[in-house]
Amino acid sequence: MRLCADCRSQFRLLGNEAICPRCGYAPMPTDCENCRRHPPPAALRSLRSAAWFEGPLRRALHHLKYQRDILLGDTLAEWLCDLYYREGLAADLIVPVPLSPQRLRERGYNQADLLARPLAEWAGVPYAPGALLRSRHTLSQVGLSADERRQNVAGAFVADRRLVAGRQVVVVDDVCTTGATLAACAEALHAAGAAKVWGLTLARAL
Ligand SMILES: [Zn+2]
Repeated sequence: MRLCADCRSQFRLLGNEAICPRCGYAPMPTDCENCRRHPPPAALRSLRSAAWFEGPLRRALHHLKYQRDILLGDTLAEWLCDLYYREGLAADLIVPVPLSPQRLRERGYNQADLLARPLAEWAGVPYAPGALLRSRHTLSQVGLSADERRQNVAGAFVADRRLVAGRQVVVVDDVCTTGATLAACAEALHAAGAAKVWGLTLARAL
C-alpha cells in the first residue's frame, strides 16, 4: 500500500484540539470521561496518539499488521516522530510493546517494533526491543470490553531491570483503544525501576 498525498491529508491528527493531559483523549472535557471509566495507572505519565484510527490510516495499519507490508512502518513512524517532538519528550530509552513469542512466530515480526525502531533512530534515543517481554500469552484484545482488556493484559508484561532502572522510557504501540496494554507495560516498567514512562501510539481508536 502506498500512502499518497491524498491519503495522508485524510489522517485526522490529534492534538489540534484541547486534549486530556493524562490519557490524551480528545476533546478535553472538564472532567475526562475516559479517565473516569478507565483510570490510567500512576506509572504512566501520559498517553498520546498521533491520529484517529480511521480511514487511510486504519487501512495502512491493517496492511502493516496483517499483510506483511512492513515498509509502511518507516513511513508511518513520521507521525510518531512529529508527536514525540511536539510533546517535548526526552526519553533515555524507546521500547516497543512486545508480542508474545507465539504471536511473533505466527506473524514473523512485531508491528510496534516497525514503528518504534525508526522513531528511536530519528530521535537519536537508544532502542531496547528486549526491555519489555510478555510473561504469558494473552488473547487478542479485539472484541473484548474495557474490563476484559484490562484483565487480559494485567501482569502480562515484565521489564528488564538492568535496561530500564532509573531510565525515562517511551513505550510505543500501533493502536490504543482503552490504554489497557500501555498501562500494563507502564506498570511493569515502573516495577523494574523505570523513572518515568510515557506511552505513544500512532493511532487512537474512536
Ligand atoms: Zn483522560
